Amino acid sequence: MRLRLLILGGSSEASALARRIADELNVAAVLSLAGATTNPAPAPIPRRVGGFGGAEGLAVYLAAERIDAVVDATHPFASRMSANAVAACRATGAPLVVFTRPPWAREDGDRWTEAATMEEAADALGSQPRTVLLTQGRLQLAAFAQAPQHRYIVRAIDRPTEINALPHCKLILARGPFSLADELQLMKRERIEVLVTKNSGGRATRPKIEAARALEIEVVMVRRPPAPEAETLYDLDAVMAWIASHRRAP
Ligand code: NAP
Repeated sequence: MRLRLLILGGSSEASALARRIADELNVAAVLSLAGATTNPAPAPIPRRVGGFGGAEGLAVYLAAERIDAVVDATHPFASRMSANAVAACRATGAPLVVFTRPPWAREDGDRWTEAATMEEAADALGSQPRTVLLTQGRLQLAAFAQAPQHRYIVRAIDRPTEINALPHCKLILARGPFSLADELQLMKRERIEVLVTKNSGGRATRPKIEAARALEIEVVMVRRPPAPEAETLYDLDAVMAWIASHRRAP
């Protein structure tokens, strides 16, 4: 009997888990994506795309697909999906684990201003016009419409609809990963004075933090939302062991 596993994706952890689980003959895994990006990276396991319809919709899906276990490997800021996973797994009894990365911690040389929300981040930019690099993609750009005095350099995978809300802005369409050399070049070329970023954590997007440190650029760091109320693992081997512990008896 193969374990039927649902992976809630949209992160590098989910992609890494999908690659690893593809070789596991005892596990039938499906990767779920929100459908946020037009051309998501190819996945080595079956994929489903689009919302479930809230916690209730996810509970219906878990029962209909006879899902044995769920790995929430969504991005740390995808708090709605994570809360829905907690509620649906509680309702159906499906075991749930969160696979994520720890937040970044301030290091020597960092010039961070912390903010609780994107609106607070926009406020923290101050009244004097500055050149600001926004790397949160398509989400929550409209928060910066309240600070139209700044020039925004927006980097995203797809053209964000909210970009029209920003009067002075330049869009750079690009998909990571970006190396430290890429980030240094971008920040120098665009004469960036402030970087706004979510505290996503992880290695994949850390070069922008390192580049800001090297160039003594201020960082407005948006804190994470509260963590989901579920067992949390930071390591792929530990997640594989958790999955193995939920295998069905033959
Ligand atoms: P969110 O606010 O937590 O979720 C909004 C809704 O999108 C959810 O209620 C759910 O719809 C649907 N959804 C989210 N993730 C899904 C998934 N993996 N599979 C199926 N449906 C999903 O999430 P978000 O912040 O908009 O992020 C959307 C996706 O982008 C997430 O999968 C996340 O991993 C990824 N992502 C987010 C960020 C970020 O900064 N927020 C960064 C990188 C990647 P229903 O309620 O209808 O089920």
